[in-house]
Amino acid sequence: MSVKKVVLLGSTGSIGTSTLTVAREIPERMEIVALAAANSVETLAQQVHETGVKNVGIYNPEKEAELRALIPADVKIHVGLEGLIQLAQLEGADMVLVAIVGIAGLHPAFAAIDAGKDLAVASKEILVMAGELVMRAAREKGVKILPVDSEHNAIFQCLEGHKGLHSGSASSAGAGNVNHEISRLILTASGGPFRTMDSDLLESVSLEQALKHPTWEMGRKITIDSATLFNKGLEMIEARWLFDVEMHRVDVIVHPQSIVHSMVEFIDGSILAQLSTTDMCFPIQYAVTYPERLPNNLKPINFAELAKLEFEAPRRDAFPAIDLAVRAGTKGGTLPAVLNAANEIAVEAFVNKKITFPDIWRIVEQTMDTHTWNKGETLESLIQADQEARLIAREAVGGK
Ligand code: NDP
Repeated sequence: MSVKKVVLLGSTGSIGTSTLTVAREIPERMEIVALAAANSVETLAQQVHETGVKNVGIYNPEKEAELRALIPADVKIHVGLEGLIQLAQLEGADMVLVAIVGIAGLHPAFAAIDAGKDLAVASKEILVMAGELVMRAAREKGVKILPVDSEHNAIFQCLEGHKGLHSGSASSAGAGNVNHEISRLILTASGGPFRTMDSDLLESVSLEQALKHPTWEMGRKITIDSATLFNKGLEMIEARWLFDVEMHRVDVIVHPQSIVHSMVEFIDGSILAQLSTTDMCFPIQYAVTYPERLPNNLKPINFAELAKLEFEAPRRDAFPAIDLAVRAGTKGGTLPAVLNAANEIAVEAFVNKKITFPDIWRIVEQTMDTHTWNKGETLESLIQADQEARLIAREAVGGK
């Protein structure tokens, strides 16, 4: 059994720190060989000392000197986007885990694939924006795309379990040879803090309320996305590319306990689900150790304590994010990138208290309506659509 050498981009965030927890648990199977963050130099320096990495990335060049003063002289610092790309192609690394919030992980993800590294993807922006291109590049290079997001990791596990019966091996990511047997991918959603709130009251919800997620501890952006249900919408698009199914075969069900992380319904009506307690260490560990499973000290499910698992339809009228994502995912081309970019600008404006909570989806819809669509066949065209969408969305924020 070999040790997997992992480059961790976005190490100081919620997923990043959970990844370090997993690495501490299974040192005989996982070694962190590089770390990177945007600005958090103190946490990053402390992580450098803990892991003993010899390569570290800092996105903001103004922070380089500060970081230099806090870490050993023999640790090489890689700066800016170029630095992230260098780390993604680090010699000797087996896997790159991208846990950067926003689209800064896009180029490093392609760089990792290009260098033949397996890619563990937490940053959903990568697959939402450029899913088709990423999956094609991975196929061409023969690298694995391993989903870290709990829902996609759950589906991946369900499909791998099924695929194993077919082929006797589970060697590549995605739906592979069982795709035609999938009836629906069913993503579960907690429903967020406003699941049962009257639609009229959504106008006046505060940032503090939106940041109180009922079941998961996560970074700010994804927590707001969970409250609007844009997180689920982005995940639907992500699932469409990861598992190569059309949007109409990707469904959402609200499951407030967040114990069933997602399900696959097959054409014979049977459903496979993956369950665990709400801890991102589960999917992170599986992404790293795949196709093997290793014991750990994570909290198991106690069904007797749990008592019940509930499911209900999402309120699509009250939370239009799901329908907007279905529209973007069905149309494809540049529209998913536009949805993602407009949502990022709108969330930022909500966090800065410039717009109301429902303004988030109003701005996304307005931006999608204004955008001139194209097929988005190259990374450049997707990036251009992203940039244009940000301008349109910023104007819309200014008009509020
Ligand atoms: P956080 O906000 O907690 O952390 C973001 C991390 O990215 C930080 O380490 C941050 O560094 C780093 N970062 C941000 N911008 C850059 C950049 N330009 N270059 C290098 N590093 C950068 O986010 P999360 O961990 O919650 O989420 C990360 C990604 O994973 C998101 O795409 C999210 O949607 C996805 N995800 C998260 C889940 C969760 O449970 N949190 C679940 C599933 C998916 P710094 O600290 O210096 O700012």
